[in-house]
Amino acid sequence: MMFGSNTLGNGWVVPADDAAITAAAQFLHAGQIVAIPTETVYGLAADAQNADAVARIYAAKGRPDFNPLIVHVADISAARKLAVFNDMAERIADAFWPGPLTLVLPLQPDAPITRAVTAGLPTIAIRWSAHPVMQALLAKSGLSLAAPSANPSGGISPTRAEHVLAGLGGAVPMILDGGPCAAGLESTIVAIRDDGWEILRPGPVTPEDIERVVGCKPLVAQNTTIEAPGQMSSHYAPTKPVRLNVTAPEPAEWLIGFGSISGDYNLSASGNLAQAAANLFDAMHHADASAARSIAVAPIPREGIGIAINDRLNRATVR
Ligand code: AMP
Ligand code: MG
Repeated sequence: MMFGSNTLGNGWVVPADDAAITAAAQFLHAGQIVAIPTETVYGLAADAQNADAVARIYAAKGRPDFNPLIVHVADISAARKLAVFNDMAERIADAFWPGPLTLVLPLQPDAPITRAVTAGLPTIAIRWSAHPVMQALLAKSGLSLAAPSANPSGGISPTRAEHVLAGLGGAVPMILDGGPCAAGLESTIVAIRDDGWEILRPGPVTPEDIERVVGCKPLVAQNTTIEAPGQMSSHYAPTKPVRLNVTAPEPAEWLIGFGSISGDYNLSASGNLAQAAANLFDAMHHADASAARSIAVAPIPREGIGIAINDRLNRATVR
């Protein structure tokens, strides 16, 4: 592999092979940021203990610093060093990790992370991803990695290496290409409270999945403060107006289709919601880059992962 071909600051897309993962681990130890695939979306990773490195994430994304980051860990024992797990948290972790689910838990008092990661909150968001590239990078580096989605703050999340390059290329020295993300929507964020659990952001793991494991319904969202950008009304937004539940588009609209409504990009011709979730952000990136003035989206059923798809679509309409 050619190290000489990259000057830090220029996006450098490399296939995520062993040599690239070794190089990425060295970048991370040097306090640099690296874009990497997960099963949900591409993440922008930095050593969670290094304040300068974490500051580079906020700077590259243009992310407000009151917005905390998810910390990725290599296994459950690494997670327990950062957060306090009660019985319910243990059961959820046991059922869904590694996988597309993030737990928000009380921060361990002596957790080895820099303060900016949690934006000063008494809680921490933790995830153990199933993606082989993320797992290999965690193992190779021996670090815990702060990693929000690798897109400019508020914009469309990246599900392919080329989305990262288009959005953040100039601000990220290295982008590991692991192909398209299988789930395609950000992780489900679950907060554990003293008296139960709450969904902060809907995602690939549904409330019904969690209910089956813990045996009780989610708490009614308290929603007093914004704890996650997933709760902000404008997020995941293209630069163009978006109109939802469209069966007959206007001539000037670029149509994201579903099932029998084909459009300019059909999320799933067979009407498969998991396939639609995997394709959603790629369709939005294409729609945004097209010559059309505005974007229309066919109706998506509000069931299973369709709930998370509609959540992202609703936020995409607010600019
Ligand atoms: P992103 O990966 O860009 O979607 O951002 C990470 C998500 O995790 C955001 O929605 C954060 O607000 C959320 N998050 C991180 N830490 C916490 C926390 N302590 N409490 C609630 N949400 C959190
Ligand atoms: Mg994000």
